[in-house]
Amino acid sequence: MNMRERIRLVESRIEEACLRSGRRREEVNVIAVTKYVSTETAREAVDSGLRHVGENRWQDAQAKWEAIGADAVWHFIGHLQSNKVKDVVGKFAYIHSLDRLSLAKELDRVAAKLGITVNCFIQANISGELSKHGLAPAELLPFAERLADYPRLKVLGLMTMAPYETEAEATRPVFRGLRELRDKLNEAGTLGYSVDHLSMGMSGDFEIAIEEGATWVRLGTVLVGKEPAREDG
Ligand SMILES: *Cc1c(COP(=O)(O)O)cnc(C)c1O
Repeated sequence: MNMRERIRLVESRIEEACLRSGRRREEVNVIAVTKYVSTETAREAVDSGLRHVGENRWQDAQAKWEAIGADAVWHFIGHLQSNKVKDVVGKFAYIHSLDRLSLAKELDRVAAKLGITVNCFIQANISGELSKHGLAPAELLPFAERLADYPRLKVLGLMTMAPYETEAEATRPVFRGLRELRDKLNEAGTLGYSVDHLSMGMSGDFEIAIEEGATWVRLGTVLVGKEPAREDG
């Protein structure tokens, strides 16, 4: 399948998931995750109309960012080390992996220096898998409360990753759990403002995530493909 065929197929699967769950198509935004592909393929994705691009490591993203830059809107979706914050803030419009106060502090510091605010998603670990980053559900509201100390951070919503499942349906409780946690956060008024967004759903499970309320799906393999590792950076 080529890029345009994959985009068309993903689009029809998103539309059907919206129909099944009574949602409007415009509520669901797509991030093309380019971490498995070359700069040329990432460029092709953007030229094919995929405006939002996601990467999970600055070291891998740098060459693509330098080549594509402002032709895309950049999303940092991976675990973010504090010493990489200065590389990422100002280039990536959205950070999906806010998961600790030391990171909040560094993001706020660099954003203040640049005179900008940073759009963030708080990452939650709903499944409880030890291999996953993110706050336990019980930690999330206390964490959100502390973010008042970091006025340069604008929280848009919550992010999670479901465990890999051979049967996509098995991911549903994780996505539902994230939605319920967002609702709880809003009801408690912890942030002082309401958040709408849920960043959840990948190639293997995005339709379930949409049915459970995803507003950003992060799609790599199914959308832009996966290429063998290469040496072009
Ligand atoms: C790699 C990655 C994705 C996309 O993965 P696919 O299964 O290829 O769609 C989404 N989110 C995060 C955080 C990732 O690291």
